[in-house]
Amino acid sequence: MCGIVGYIGYKQAQPILLKSLKRLEYRGYDSCGIATIKNGELHLFKDKGRIVELEKKLPQLDGKTGIGHTRWATHGEPSPINAHPHLDCHRRIAVVHNGIIENYLDLKRRLIEEGHLFLSETDTEVIPHLIEKYYRRGLPEAVSQAVNHLSGSFAIAVLGTVSRELIVARKENPIVVGLGDKENFVASDIPALLDYTDRVIYLEDDDIAFITSEEVKITHRGQPAIRNWQVIPWRLEEAKKAGYEHFMLKEIHEQPQAIRQTLATYVPETGTITGLDIPRDDTEPNILCLGCGSSFYASLVYGYIFDKLGYQNIKSQIASEFIHSSGVKDGTWVIGITQSGETADTLKALKKAKEQGAKTIAITNVIGSTVTRLADHILYIRAGPEISVAATKSFAAQLIIGYLIALTVASVDSYTRDKVLTELRTVAIRVKQILDEADCLNPIATLLTKYSDLFLIARGINYPVVLEGALKFKEIAYIHADAYPAGELKHGPFALLRENTPVVAIATPDETYQSLLTSIKEIKARSSPVIAIAEEGDKNIEQIADEVLFTPRVEPLVSPLTNITILQLLAYYAAKERGCAIDFPVNLAKSVTVP
Ligand code: GLU
Repeated sequence: MCGIVGYIGYKQAQPILLKSLKRLEYRGYDSCGIATIKNGELHLFKDKGRIVELEKKLPQLDGKTGIGHTRWATHGEPSPINAHPHLDCHRRIAVVHNGIIENYLDLKRRLIEEGHLFLSETDTEVIPHLIEKYYRRGLPEAVSQAVNHLSGSFAIAVLGTVSRELIVARKENPIVVGLGDKENFVASDIPALLDYTDRVIYLEDDDIAFITSEEVKITHRGQPAIRNWQVIPWRLEEAKKAGYEHFMLKEIHEQPQAIRQTLATYVPETGTITGLDIPRDDTEPNILCLGCGSSFYASLVYGYIFDKLGYQNIKSQIASEFIHSSGVKDGTWVIGITQSGETADTLKALKKAKEQGAKTIAITNVIGSTVTRLADHILYIRAGPEISVAATKSFAAQLIIGYLIALTVASVDSYTRDKVLTELRTVAIRVKQILDEADCLNPIATLLTKYSDLFLIARGINYPVVLEGALKFKEIAYIHADAYPAGELKHGPFALLRENTPVVAIATPDETYQSLLTSIKEIKARSSPVIAIAEEGDKNIEQIADEVLFTPRVEPLVSPLTNITILQLLAYYAAKERGCAIDFPVNLAKSVTVP
């Protein structure tokens, strides 16, 4: 959460910082600011609100070195004073920060006793004052000393009026250095760098990088360290809206491609699964999947996929809950799912599992992200950059990895394996068909905006799909949505069903179909409107549901991929109808890098 950027080179920093910040806004957007240095003088401008608003008021801040920040507040309300960068008492040091300084109250009290003057309510402000306190022989030494006193998590970028370098440090929060020609860049995440370079260095925990326009020197716990650079395979176009009104809509439309690319990475055009980086020598391992939000729901789908393919030794847990549990047995496969590779709760949980002797596997979209350095095995989804806060194509791509692991771990015969692989190839075409006719979902989405509460139901493998669908309605359309396995309604939620509580029911054919129809009839008996998602040609459903959305025919095992596409689109159109800030939902940010 929150985006950090930095520039040092031969060009004016301000336009570069602003452009990069706009590409990071999905990480936080309640306030923002930039600082530049010119001729030993610090220029600062910050305000509440988004970058476009800041840009309108921003005076020209001269300087070829600068830092910038877009905030997701953890300590102190969104306000101009609490916006970053934060300064020391003498306006000689500027700091932007992503993370939480857990001991800030203690540090702040001591610094105030020593005469430092604080302006904001943030935890961050202790950092420039600490650096000021240790400033004797220059900024590098002062930063190195100051970070030793910080507990919690941080990625920081620091500027000094008399320093020739830009300094960044990290502990548990992401930061990457982009390498240019006589210029270098800093950012929390890759999309901010794609305009300028595809060569990046990922810093590791306890690294400090001292960056000039010519070179990047890194120390790790005070010792010089070598970090190799990597080439990022994403193209700039992928991080742009490409004519779509919102990133979310673009990313839903990229779902077929995300499915195909992820599949193609591990399954050649003809042939079987290759290169799946999972432990090889275990028979029937215990598997625990960990994730948060959409990644957790993807892991719940895994449970059903494995079960359908004859493997029951798999469980899922919310990563932040696992942290407080007694953990796992030695040798368990622990699969951590995180789109960004930076989700703090998932990283923490994987670390714990690893310490307990688990074999850790990461499923992520971001090459070189923190989780790829933590886990023993890495499985990349190939979704391309996902900018919108609400996950869409990454969820679909995560499911693909689940099918591939299940096909590898469960002892399925080659006929079943080939059949499932063929279905996965076909499902990308079916998703595309839904997208081609996406507009026809608009009237139903408009209908749903008339209600403030919504229920979603399914049975079996589509139950986690309605959980994920409900999440979309909550996060982007601000409609309270609850998802249930259909059989659970009678155990409580029925009490809430009225004519003003619509129910969206996934009723695509599988072994649960008949009982799902029974559930719909029970709901109708309580006069709630029912919108069913059913397979094309289903005549029964038309007689009992108020509205039916038809999906192309697919095998039940892969139906989560088509059904989630419909729910994503419904939530998107509902949010649009309500005039919501779809890519930047209130109070949220992508890449939840605080625990
Ligand atoms: N804790 C800092 C603040 O509230 C940074 C939050 C963030 O990482 O977005 O300003």
